[in-house]
Amino acid sequence: MTRIHLLSPQLANQIAAGEVVERPASVVKELLENSLDAGARKIDVDIENGGIKLIRLRDDGFGIDKEDLALALSRHATSKILQLQDLEAVASLGFRGEALASISSVARLALTSRTAEQDAAWQVRAEGRDMEAVLSPAAHPQGTTVEVRDLFFNTPARRKFLKTEQTEFRHLEEVIKRLALSRFDVAFNLQHNGRRVQQLRPVDGEQARERRLASLLGAAFIDQAVHLDVSAEASGLRLWGWIGLPTYSRSQADQQYFFVNGRIIRDKVVTHAVRQAYADVLFSGRHPAFVLYLELDPALVDVNVHPTKHEVRFRESRLVHDFIFRTLHRVIADLRPKSAVVDESAAPAVEGPGADGLALRPSVGSAGGGGGFSQGRMPLYQSAPGSGGYTGSAVREQIAAYAGLHEPASPLMRPQQPAMPQAGAEQAPPLGYAIAQLHGVYVLAQNEAGLVLVDMHAAHERIVYERMKTAWDEDKMRSQPLLVPVSISVSEREADLAEERPELFERLGFKIERMGADTLTVREVPVSLAKADAAQLVRDVLADLVVFGSSQRIEQSINELLATMACHGAVRANRQLSITEMNALLRDMEATERSGQCNHGRPTWTQLSMAELDKLFMRGQ
Ligand code: ADP
Ligand code: MG
Repeated sequence: MTRIHLLSPQLANQIAAGEVVERPASVVKELLENSLDAGARKIDVDIENGGIKLIRLRDDGFGIDKEDLALALSRHATSKILQLQDLEAVASLGFRGEALASISSVARLALTSRTAEQDAAWQVRAEGRDMEAVLSPAAHPQGTTVEVRDLFFNTPARRKFLKTEQTEFRHLEEVIKRLALSRFDVAFNLQHNGRRVQQLRPVDGEQARERRLASLLGAAFIDQAVHLDVSAEASGLRLWGWIGLPTYSRSQADQQYFFVNGRIIRDKVVTHAVRQAYADVLFSGRHPAFVLYLELDPALVDVNVHPTKHEVRFRESRLVHDFIFRTLHRVIADLRPKSAVVDESAAPAVEGPGADGLALRPSVGSAGGGGGFSQGRMPLYQSAPGSGGYTGSAVREQIAAYAGLHEPASPLMRPQQPAMPQAGAEQAPPLGYAIAQLHGVYVLAQNEAGLVLVDMHAAHERIVYERMKTAWDEDKMRSQPLLVPVSISVSEREADLAEERPELFERLGFKIERMGADTLTVREVPVSLAKADAAQLVRDVLADLVVFGSSQRIEQSINELLATMACHGAVRANRQLSITEMNALLRDMEATERSGQCNHGRPTWTQLSMAELDKLFMRGQ
């Protein structure tokens, strides 16, 4: 041990650099944030060798005064905050005053700038252990250029951690992508080794924004995304952006962008809320895609949690969580075939205050500007619950016809309130009318756009499932006695379970008695599952319960259990349906939330338009 001494400024900065400068991408992030903080409208990024050799960033922001240039490179020097209170409502991306000092301690950095008031530009570099600032005249228009050469040239241990140029460049591109998603009004240009890689003009308006999204995330994303914009009056929260349809799920969580007041963040509260909103419609192990912007009073979020500012802390995380969950859950629930013609007045202007007193004002539309969905190519518009715009006298007759014919025991045949025609409107139902059944698996229907194909079992399964969830929530699962009680043999563990939780089974609509160590008798089953194989149904429910284990997990996993039951209640492949039954199924789909996906997240229907059919047969070419 030696005596205590002060670290040289360079060493202190190099230590600080350990936190914020990990690789070329982190340098680019800090420099881009500075340019945005300086009000830049156009940012040019030149990269050589993945950023290891050179990162040059030029902006047209307000620049730095000659007098301040040297200070900009020293540690704890910032123009963005003055006192502690400023931190509580900080609107700029930076505020720590560390980035330039850190970068210049581990690379050769030159900062050139000119403000509007100056008639000449100046350049500054920091040299040696004491990081002495050296100023020299330069040529530069208004704005700032930062040049960073030979990253980690003086810290070989860190340099060893760098990956190949291509890998470093990919990280760097991702950083630019994120910032380009955060500021649609700013132009971003990126060059790598003299080749133009990205050129993004500033955009305004929804469609232009979606074009930028398409060029950053791919056209497939925007084709299969829904736009949303929801504000909660009381709490001042606003969530807007785009979420991918459940059928556009990904094997990786690689298209998840969440911005809080313009800053990209990763946050457990947010991730959990989004996952929960998708829980019911996503194939297990798949990840949703989204680009979402949360706006809230800066005083409600602490951004000074992590040196790279990738994390935030919400002062009221419960409120934020519930707002995100409820908003997305609602939007996802409304993804069902709807009328192709939007009647703006039919959209709910204000959704009543929710349980926690939030007044939601949703405005949700399809992203593709009126179409472009691979599933159905039919815009998925928000319409008032229960006010499906599909009516007309022909429909009315048809619906009346099968409403009268239905067999009460079959959920398939239960007439649905929302599908009932409304007087006055003249519109065909979105999914049209059934014309045939294909190989006992698919329903073919004709609608205005062309041909609709429905996976009968998948669609019906979702309908039964949604009804069961509602019935469960309202404690209205009715049971029906079996004509002949069914006796089944199970494991002792399963028999114990059935005996221990009679109230659970009763609430689910079952009446089960234990007859022996491993024998049960099923006396009653849920009405909606009266046609199912009772023995198999009860066995599956018990198997699920055994997997869920503790009674608390059962409550948490009730949806999984209901999904299992719904599967038994849904029409099987190869069952012949009458045209009337098929039409009832189509109407039910239109009226059921989340009906675009089956319980496992697979699509339930698709549309082949006349144009697509014509193309198949080369008609009109
Ligand atoms: P911070 O961004 O946290 O303030 P930095 O070390 O990144 O700290 O930058 C230090 C200061 O240099 C900033 O506060 C700002 O005043 C100035 N600065 C840096 N980059 C730019 C730029 N591109 N345009 C104008 N001023 C800049
Ligand atoms: Mg900064």
